[in-house]
Amino acid sequence: MNKKLYIQTLGCAMNERDSEHIIAELEEKENYQITTNPQEADLILINTCSVREKPEKKLFSEIGQYAKIKKNDAKIGICGCTASHLGESILKRSKAVDFVLGARNVSKISQIIHQKRVAWVDIDYDDSSYIFSSKQNSILKGMINISIGCDKKCTYCIVPHTRGNEISIPTHLIINEAKRLANQGTKEILLLGQNVNNYGKRFSIPHRKINFTQLLYEISQIDGIQRIRFTSPHPLHMDDEFIEEFAHNPKLCKAIHMPLQSGSTKILQKMKRGYTKEWFLNRVEKMYSLIPHLSISTDIIVGFPTESEEDFLDTLDVLEKVQFDTLYSFIYSSRPHTEAAKWIENKEVGEIDEEEAKRRLILLKDKHRDILTQNNQKELNNIHSILFESYDEQNKLLEGRSDTNKLIRVKAGRNLVGEICKVKISEIKGAQLIGELM
Ligand code: SF4
Repeated sequence: MNKKLYIQTLGCAMNERDSEHIIAELEEKENYQITTNPQEADLILINTCSVREKPEKKLFSEIGQYAKIKKNDAKIGICGCTASHLGESILKRSKAVDFVLGARNVSKISQIIHQKRVAWVDIDYDDSSYIFSSKQNSILKGMINISIGCDKKCTYCIVPHTRGNEISIPTHLIINEAKRLANQGTKEILLLGQNVNNYGKRFSIPHRKINFTQLLYEISQIDGIQRIRFTSPHPLHMDDEFIEEFAHNPKLCKAIHMPLQSGSTKILQKMKRGYTKEWFLNRVEKMYSLIPHLSISTDIIVGFPTESEEDFLDTLDVLEKVQFDTLYSFIYSSRPHTEAAKWIENKEVGEIDEEEAKRRLILLKDKHRDILTQNNQKELNNIHSILFESYDEQNKLLEGRSDTNKLIRVKAGRNLVGEICKVKISEIKGAQLIGELM
């Protein structure tokens, strides 16, 4: 009889992909079957995120909840970034936890479930050449890891501490995986890495010289793959060669994530981001000149230590100039093992007043909302190519995403799910775009 696995995934697309790997390993090697009910599970996993403080704080109360409702002999395992960063201390703090598996150790899941009260959190562990079992949430869309870890040392970020140094996954493994996905009918792939466009910097086996732009080109040559997305690229590595390929290769979706973090060159230097406000704007300008309909999303942190009103106004200035389509914005929260946390600990810098940081976040979000409302109005009569992903039975509407990553709904039959069609925007209802087949 199958054993039941319940898994809760927090955080980014990397974590989602790690969960897919974990599920596949346990289904294929350990005879598990996924369940959405933790009460009937034989194994409960929490795949954690530690980028911000809040979810990490909630972890122990969640463990407590699961411990109360789980079956008597069910196990609880903690995986992901918080597992890497808190390690054995999770076992010490909670008797309910059976094992702790770090983000860099996903490939060991089928071994650790047979251990008692252990923590495997080696951040130098190399599973870049490990062949994972196949698993994806949707046949139409697949995710492929192209690198693990991150060599950057952004002063606010805990990721290098939880995911270790950067290693690129050998190109032939990526190409084989993309071909396998194409053969089973996958149309869109999402390439994943903490710092995707630094691809090729370091391999753990002898490897030909290759960079991210060349990798994109090689994947785009695979028949059947019709769309390619990637996350997260670093603005520093967006050179002219990359922008030309991105603009002119029709399989590369015209939506890009450009994590700004701050619009102030002074703050960017303190964050050790490696670029200036001018560099960021120059890259955006070049991309817009080649791709006028490009959609750009971003991450912004407000209230980073020493951020003055003038620095914040620089951020608003970049927001205004770039007109980001999507904004993920946060108040700075100090993370352990980071340089910025040490400055605060040593009282070299003070934290920005909480009320002031909140004011800046609200202002930023309000300004972004205005930009979105204005830009949405301009969508009327625009033409997009949409990959239809699902059918809303109740409203008889097809739903899909444009290559600029906009969610668009169309009155048409369910037989078009899985097809890529041209759609003209005919109606705008608040943030919702409704279109007609052309
Ligand atoms: S590039 Fe910076 S923010 Fe991104 S994962 Fe690496 S250290 Fe963190």
